[in-house]
Amino acid sequence: MQQLVCSLCGETFSPENVLWRCPHCGGPLEWRGLPPFDAAKIEPKEPGLWRYRKFFPLPTAYQPLTLGEGWTPLISLPAFSPNLHFKLEFLLPTGSFKDRGVALVVNRLAIGNIREFVDDSSGNAGASMAAYGAMAGMKAHICTPDYAPAEKKAQISNFGADLITVPGPRPEATKAALRLAEGGLFYASHAWVPINLVGQQTAAFEIWEQLGGRTPDWILTPVGQGTLFLGLYGGFERLRAAGHIRRLPRLVAVQAEKVSPVVKAFHAGAEDVEAVPPGMTIADGMAITQPVRGRRILQALRKSSGDAIAVREEEIIAARRQLAHNGLFVEPTSAAPLAALALLQDRVAPNDTIVIPLTGNGLKKPEMP
Ligand SMILES: [Zn+2]
Repeated sequence: MQQLVCSLCGETFSPENVLWRCPHCGGPLEWRGLPPFDAAKIEPKEPGLWRYRKFFPLPTAYQPLTLGEGWTPLISLPAFSPNLHFKLEFLLPTGSFKDRGVALVVNRLAIGNIREFVDDSSGNAGASMAAYGAMAGMKAHICTPDYAPAEKKAQISNFGADLITVPGPRPEATKAALRLAEGGLFYASHAWVPINLVGQQTAAFEIWEQLGGRTPDWILTPVGQGTLFLGLYGGFERLRAAGHIRRLPRLVAVQAEKVSPVVKAFHAGAEDVEAVPPGMTIADGMAITQPVRGRRILQALRKSSGDAIAVREEEIIAARRQLAHNGLFVEPTSAAPLAALALLQDRVAPNDTIVIPLTGNGLKKPEMP
């Protein structure tokens, strides 16, 4: 039976309710009882990630609203090891990995007849929610820090959303969104709405298919709220539960040294992620001081025998330049995992298969420092 379950108090709710958090204790919700993954039920003729629609918690007869998201290329580059694969998530419709989860969020809202919502974002999730909301005929209100890159803000307003820029560090934008939610708007936060993580699981399914049914040894991702990280973990867990793979990839969470709550908590052996002071980093897409699902991120790191690595600003800049000089233009946040790989090198065996999802398009933050 499909249910929403609170990861703090354990209370369960019918999936008919469109909820963003536990109504009892305010904890984050997760889906339980998702349809088992079954390779025979993949529908290759469906566009993009909708090839996996039978594994989504959506009605089977439902005709999805889509911008054609998913099935992004997995490539290697001549200048790098052939065992290093880049997943080009920046080719998703709004130029970032967020579209995977947001596509499912907006379909869920449509089924629940929610026509207007608010979200807060450093830019990419806001652009994605604004685009999908526009496509679905919904009114989006998006709160971003006023320091967010002009390109991301331009995306949001071009999609017709109500762009609210909030002075101060990133958490101020969250507070502004919550004030609007208290006024009655649905808080369609990509960090909170649980179906977002199900959408992000499709990145794992695709990597597995694109590697010919193999598990990579390592996957390195940027971690802000950790939705892609948790999606990858959940997706490979479902593949393992279905007997398609025997082990999980080692998942490496990468953060900017200036804002690295997950790295600190992981290496302190903590069970929860404590908030760190806001900091300014060139990796604006992951400047989250305390992720909503911190406890789950730490569990996934440990269960996958992974690691958490902080990288310095100059390392991020150098990795971004290295990618650009090999034909891939990504935003700074997206280059952090390549910088982290250099720090992991003595632990990676020569034949290990490594995947780095390149999460955001360079056009979203084009200046090269
Ligand atoms: Zn609860």
